[in-house]
Amino acid sequence: MAIERTLSIIKPDAVAKNVIGKIVSRFEAAGLKMVAGKLVHLSRSEAEQFYAVHSARPFFKDLVEFMISGPVFVQVLEGEDAIVKNRDLMGATDPKKAAAGTIRADFADSIDANAVHGSDAPETAKGEIAFFFAGLNVYQR
Ligand code: UDP
Repeated sequence: MAIERTLSIIKPDAVAKNVIGKIVSRFEAAGLKMVAGKLVHLSRSEAEQFYAVHSARPFFKDLVEFMISGPVFVQVLEGEDAIVKNRDLMGATDPKKAAAGTIRADFADSIDANAVHGSDAPETAKGEIAFFFAGLNVYQR
């Protein structure tokens, strides 16, 4: 198993519920380490750029509105198989379909307001980490 890095976002709904710490604890308990993190309020153009891959989807406009509705906590997680491990901890996109004990099952309200984002592959992880943390002195192992 490889040590990987992945981008995690605690979305505006979860930040508003004041559960950043509870969600971070899930990652810590699973052995993922936070190696960078910050609270940011995305601009419309930043949210559109981040989710550009979904720009043709019917939910794109609402997704952007939601992502700029309040601050988000953006973090880089590091650990063995971090990308898949993070996705497993998150649960399915639709919290109604998310397995019991996952972050989305426990903290998300709907498929639109679903508490967390996680990179889905090594290439996207690299791009998403650079999107938020390029130029910063991110801790290196
Ligand atoms: N999304 C939505 N409605 C949908 C599908 C997706 O609002 O019908 C949003 C949701 O916030 C999701 C994001 O778009 O997390 C990205 O969708 P993706 O299929 O990549 O899901 P994820 O990787 O976040 O589970």
